[in-house]
Amino acid sequence: MEDIPVSELALNPKRGGPKNLPIAEILVDDEDCENMQEQRDKPKLVILGTGWGSVALLKTLKPGDYHVTVVSPVNYFLFTPMLPSATVGTLSLKSLVEPIRRIVHRVRGHFLKAEAEDIDFSSKLVEVSQLDANGKRQHFYLPYDKLVIAVGSTTNPHGVKGLEHCNFLKTIDDARQIKNKVTENMELACLPTTSDEERKRLLSFVICGGGPTGVEFAAELYDLLNEDLRVNFPKILRNEISVHLIQSRGHILNTYDEALSKYAEARFAHDQVEVLTNSRVKEVKSDKILFTQVEDGVTVTKEIPTGFCLWSTGVSQTPFAQKIAKKIETQNNKHALETDSHLRLIGAPMGDIYAIGDCSTVQNNVAAHMITFLRTIAWEKGKDPEKVHLTFSEWRDVAERVKKRFPQAANHLRRLDRLFQEYDKDHSGTLDFNELHELLLQIDSKLTSLPATAQRANQQGEYLGRKFNQISKTLPGMKANEIDYGDLDEAVYKAFKYKHLGSLAYIGNAAIFDFNGVNYSGGLLAVYLWRSIYFSQSVSLRTRILLAMDWTKRAFFGRDIMSF
Ligand code: FAD
Repeated sequence: MEDIPVSELALNPKRGGPKNLPIAEILVDDEDCENMQEQRDKPKLVILGTGWGSVALLKTLKPGDYHVTVVSPVNYFLFTPMLPSATVGTLSLKSLVEPIRRIVHRVRGHFLKAEAEDIDFSSKLVEVSQLDANGKRQHFYLPYDKLVIAVGSTTNPHGVKGLEHCNFLKTIDDARQIKNKVTENMELACLPTTSDEERKRLLSFVICGGGPTGVEFAAELYDLLNEDLRVNFPKILRNEISVHLIQSRGHILNTYDEALSKYAEARFAHDQVEVLTNSRVKEVKSDKILFTQVEDGVTVTKEIPTGFCLWSTGVSQTPFAQKIAKKIETQNNKHALETDSHLRLIGAPMGDIYAIGDCSTVQNNVAAHMITFLRTIAWEKGKDPEKVHLTFSEWRDVAERVKKRFPQAANHLRRLDRLFQEYDKDHSGTLDFNELHELLLQIDSKLTSLPATAQRANQQGEYLGRKFNQISKTLPGMKANEIDYGDLDEAVYKAFKYKHLGSLAYIGNAAIFDFNGVNYSGGLLAVYLWRSIYFSQSVSLRTRILLAMDWTKRAFFGRDIMSF
């Protein structure tokens, strides 16, 4: 690190770019540095976001090879898997965040607490904006030689009305607001002026979405009610409180093995958490939730009076990612920015822009693999692939082989199963190769090959870090303006390959694990295993010490039930 001179990030007095904005430049003026010109010529690597993808990249990158600038509206990294624990005071908020400047410092980079607004591909400029001390939005450009988009995702509203009455769980501020709301509801329920009906409503907690976040929040809420209520709110009886989880599909945690979903449902039933499956939220009002269920083939609307509603029903694209996708003709996935297998943004000129994590998807090749498997089956049957007919059980065989190769495609295969059966009604009991090929292509754009998880973002960030290190090793002393990034990635490094390590979830004094088909579920032992996995993945020694202190504090003194 010692021979890396300190650089400055300063505004260029000259303006430029399509909007004629000021341009921020990297300046290296260290007379003691022997290779100053080389340092000045180093490529500029701009990273958008300070989440899982960006931090994994920053931690893998060798210091000194690039001028690194990180842009994000928040100046910390958030350890999201444990965020539900912070909503009820099991963990404190500061134990889940790490100051980003410490991480950026390792690569002698710069951090700008600002937001990326747009990209001008032709002049290689990112438009950035931030509010100044007077609350006025200031815009400027940041030049890049390599740009990594890792801006994450936003909550998916699914077009439901009344979400302004809901809480969300994505940011540290969301967790703080949930904690305050839950505590306030308890306090209000204890006031002598609160009617019985109002008290019941205030103590009715509804969670929309039966994925891991909704389930883990329900579990944490259950823990709070059972472990800390009697001491802090002796006037509130446990049976006055209700927790409801609304899920549109047939099971909660439907991306996990079915046995684990059922285990979680049984556990919730035992813990008096009401799980409403096959139920769709229609509207959220300030005091109730309207949802539909199908009964005897008829759709009926039901309602639950509620004092708290968590909306946690999946993710969608950020406005920035949407804007970038619209600028590129060949980007036609509505849910995420499409990249090639080297994680380069498809359609962006010059191969110098990458997209990783939740905001991106690697262009799907599940359909291509299915077609290869179909051909193999035809070959095994000694038939011409173009003429082979598949029965439903032969189709299942293909699906099983694909599932082994792409465990994350299990959901899509189930969708294909349904399509096969629907299609099959009007046909002769079999599908021929061409018909199936046609079906695959029809739903191809709906198949996302990778899940939106920290696990994937982390692997992609590490992959880019290793690749960028390799590029600088291959081209030592590289001059940014002389490098043709065109096919450099393929030449120096292999394509990205996702390795699914498994899924886990906390379900209230119990935990479940799905390690690629090997299931484990249980009580205390499983909870300690769940904790130790996340403890080891925590981003720094500082956060590990804070986590250990929080768990110890809770074991001796219970949770902090306060709102501020
Ligand atoms: P993020 O980590 O979301 O980071 C995005 C970054 O981009 C943020 O710093 C944001 O401020 C910044 N940003 C946004 N817009 C801009 C802009 N215009 N310009 C610059 N910066 C911008 N995954 C698991 O694998 N296991 C789990 O147990 C798990 N639990 C979860 C629990 C909760 C409550 C939540 C919300 C998520 C959980 N996830 C889990 C999912 C996981 O957090 C995400 O998949 C992961 O954070 C994605 O990483 P990322 O780098 O793509 O985006």
